[in-house]
Amino acid sequence: MINNHTQSIAYFSMEVALSPLIPTYSGGLGVLAGNTIRSAADLNVPLVAVSLLHREGYFFQHLDAEGWQSEEPVEWVVADALTEMSARVSVDIEGREVQIRAWRYDVVGIGDFVVPVYLLDTDLPQNSEWDRTLTDRLYGGDQHYRFCQEVLLGIGGVRMLRALGHTDLRRFHMNEGHASLLTLELLDERLGESQHSALTADDLEAVHDQCVFTTHTPVPAGHDQFPMELVSRVLGRRDVYDMQEVFCCEGVLNLTFLAMNLSHFINGVAKRHGEVSQHMFARYEIDSITNGVHAATWTCESFRKLFDRYIPGWQEDNFNLRYALGIPPDEIRIAHEEAKRRLVREANRLTDADLDEETFTIGFARRATAYKRPELLFHDLDRLRHIAAQGGPFQIVYAGKAHPRDETGKQIIHHIFEARRALRDQIRVVYLPNYDMQLGGLLTSGVDLWLNTPEPPMEASGTSGMKAAINGVPSLSILDGWWIEGCIEGITGWAIGEDGHNEQQSDTATDAESLYDKLEHSVLPLFLEDNAGYVDVMRHAIALNGSFFNTQRLMQQYVLKAYFE
Ligand SMILES: *Cc1c(COP(=O)(O)O)cnc(C)c1O
Repeated sequence: MINNHTQSIAYFSMEVALSPLIPTYSGGLGVLAGNTIRSAADLNVPLVAVSLLHREGYFFQHLDAEGWQSEEPVEWVVADALTEMSARVSVDIEGREVQIRAWRYDVVGIGDFVVPVYLLDTDLPQNSEWDRTLTDRLYGGDQHYRFCQEVLLGIGGVRMLRALGHTDLRRFHMNEGHASLLTLELLDERLGESQHSALTADDLEAVHDQCVFTTHTPVPAGHDQFPMELVSRVLGRRDVYDMQEVFCCEGVLNLTFLAMNLSHFINGVAKRHGEVSQHMFARYEIDSITNGVHAATWTCESFRKLFDRYIPGWQEDNFNLRYALGIPPDEIRIAHEEAKRRLVREANRLTDADLDEETFTIGFARRATAYKRPELLFHDLDRLRHIAAQGGPFQIVYAGKAHPRDETGKQIIHHIFEARRALRDQIRVVYLPNYDMQLGGLLTSGVDLWLNTPEPPMEASGTSGMKAAINGVPSLSILDGWWIEGCIEGITGWAIGEDGHNEQQSDTATDAESLYDKLEHSVLPLFLEDNAGYVDVMRHAIALNGSFFNTQRLMQQYVLKAYFE
């Protein structure tokens, strides 16, 4: 589809999950970026990616006996994982010339096509002590620190790509608004090349045609914004005020508006999220490309072997996963048992959980924060005990980090530890520390049911349930984000509550009731009394959802709709 002479696409993301050994991501946004880049490499899509180095990683999560989180920097040796490039560029920050270098990581596709990823780093002796720390902490520091990081990513990123020889880039894809300042650099490039003293409508149109923007946040408060005073102080220029209609409204620079004003293609990350965003930003045309996961990365070893045997070519063309419908049920069961054994053993090695390999296992892992409602399952402990006693035994595995400054998120983890203690004699609950890619892989493949309980419409997409689906693990989930598209009741999993189309406020008590009902009357009876029926749901999760909710399909949609259209 793409030949060697095609101009490249530049992909910008504040975080990217490249390998378990490179802790430059915090969660879903970075995991999606990594998966997207891998699929570009598989499909020979000429892409080059830019992010920041995040020398201290996101953080290592320590949980004490009461479930209180503390954070430590992640130890990793940059030079062991990445290759230093000799190019140097600089950006102006508050009048200082901050030097930037880049470290390269090669993502190699299934046919050996390479997508380079450049991680920007300011830890150079020429820089001031403070400037040297600017690429240390992902989502760390205050607004000022964050804005300086965005200058480095957006402006420094474009300059670095040029210095590395990427003079002829076709499109610039901003994965979320953190990279929006790249538009300013592209405008400056135009101004530098033209004979004009100010930008023209043609300049704006040309940059508009070059840019692509993906929004990931369904609520206005989630969009990155900075006071114009801070913006002009850091950038050391006031001309941004002259471009009011592009850059600012009411004294703040909103990075989402900036990106939308200058992008020819804008998308949300699931159908519903596209609709919600379209309502929020009526002036713009907002499409949707539903998220996915990189199939080969997130398929556990036992299922990889099974797919290799029954579905040759599944990695080259993920649509083939549809033919999982032809895999004998016993083979599915055996492959899953192997994945479950790995998870149970690892959980028992890491903690005193004493999980059991036979017991029905529910998994829940996501950032510990209020809107994801990790405690919904524990809304009524007596009801939960009753279900375990009457419906059948089950055990629960949790994981997830709270952002260091999210006190509510930290309390949520503590509450789960309290629930764990209260349920001790009836239901085993374990909270595994330091949720990362590796643990994510173990969990999404090793449990029997993937639980997700966000408050609608807050879950823009969610992707962990997609990882589960590829491994034959069905979801029990609120109808929000991707699950509105992925759920076929009783076929690929189960819904909690109704799809309220966001008209009614979601009600915690009602949602908990629905969760308990489904667990007691649909999920557990199927697993315990009609196991063949359960395995059939597993098979449909792979065939209907694994075949679609992957980044190979996502990358093909970006190519058709946004990159090379
Ligand atoms: C997949 C993944 C996520 C994102 O999944 P959600 O369903 O959006 O929570 C976050 N963190 C890690 C470590 C992951 O592997």
